Amino acid sequence: MCSTALADGPWEFDAKEPGYGPGASMWDVLPSDAPRQGSLPREYREASKAELDSRILAAKAELGERLVILGHFYQRDEVVKYADFVGDSFQLAQATKTRPQAEAIVFCGVHFMAETAEMLSGPEQRVILPNLAAGCSMADMADLDSVLDCWEQLEEVYGKEPDAQGRVPVIPVTYMNSSAALKGFCGERGGIVCTSSNASAVLKWAFERGQRVLFFPDQHLGRNTGKAMGVPLEQMPMWNPNKELGGSDAQTLRDARVLLWHGFCSVHKRFTVGQIKAARERYAGVRVIVHPECPMEVVDAADESGSTDYIRRAIESTTEPTVFAIGTEINLVQRLANENPQHTIFCLDSIVCPCSTMYRIHPGYLAWVLEALVRGEVLNRITVPEQVATHARVALERMLSVLPPAVKASPAKLGPA
Ligand code: SF4
Repeated sequence: MCSTALADGPWEFDAKEPGYGPGASMWDVLPSDAPRQGSLPREYREASKAELDSRILAAKAELGERLVILGHFYQRDEVVKYADFVGDSFQLAQATKTRPQAEAIVFCGVHFMAETAEMLSGPEQRVILPNLAAGCSMADMADLDSVLDCWEQLEEVYGKEPDAQGRVPVIPVTYMNSSAALKGFCGERGGIVCTSSNASAVLKWAFERGQRVLFFPDQHLGRNTGKAMGVPLEQMPMWNPNKELGGSDAQTLRDARVLLWHGFCSVHKRFTVGQIKAARERYAGVRVIVHPECPMEVVDAADESGSTDYIRRAIESTTEPTVFAIGTEINLVQRLANENPQHTIFCLDSIVCPCSTMYRIHPGYLAWVLEALVRGEVLNRITVPEQVATHARVALERMLSVLPPAVKASPAKLGPA
């Protein structure tokens, strides 16, 4: 384990120093305005696993079709087992549309995912995040003020006029792992949202409309995608919001094709080329698959890279017993290993270090919000101001318009857990 505090209940972290809590993001700096979770009533903190289990199941049965529980791939098993749908952030947001009768959507994931579900759900539906401190350190690395400041500086360098082909100077592209405010920023300025499974299609869309792209918050997904599309590294400078012109000079910015925000995922940053070498030494013929949020040299050293859904499908569609070394969050890797015993599946990183913020969702919080719903109380509701949501939906709809038809036709459903 990367921290012995992982053995504590997540309510212990809220009472201590503000931070992301134990796990991969524990060294990242929590923004001062990040949502905090108030204390969890003692009865939920002190309940045994068996008691929480029977209370959650009883509340679920009582709420019936009025409730849908969504569980992200990276969520711990003792929470995922209650989910009606399990998937990645976009699949889960889409899943809300398949249950229009559900008045309450309990999102066992992190804050930006619940915001997206809120924007894509019906007006009568309520989206609930069981623990408000379940944010995302990567999403927090790009805030609206810093992006607005960047945009202003870019406009000074590029101007606002399109070129002879009608392409504007720069198109903003935000990864799904970002706040609703940033999705709204993109929607309002001709930009778009992407996921890890459609980033190259989205960049292609953006290059048809703009001379270059401002990609945030994940530098690695942007760099890996741009590189795979043939964009030279020297035309993908990093934008550091703490420096004038992002730390570049005006000529570098003019030559750029993809401007990379300096964000990263602390879960995927843990994977290294050394781990891949060690896996290859230990298992001849091992198939190494990593997530594109990993650093470029790790993606280059792997056999394949792809989204969580890509990884899942790659394993499940392999019929011959195979050894897989996987570079993504430990809860998903362990679940895939349990579900596919015909294969040998292990995480490239031998230290158990989950996503700190996914880890904040504990069965105690789930029981707390579900029992409140039974009483008619909505706790921890996630809302997005309509003005922001209107623009953010534009950016999300643009993303949907570039998705392959097969993906559009099968939103979200990976099956009940
Ligand atoms: S795995 Fe990384 S990007 Fe995903 S929620 Fe955790 S910190 Fe955020």
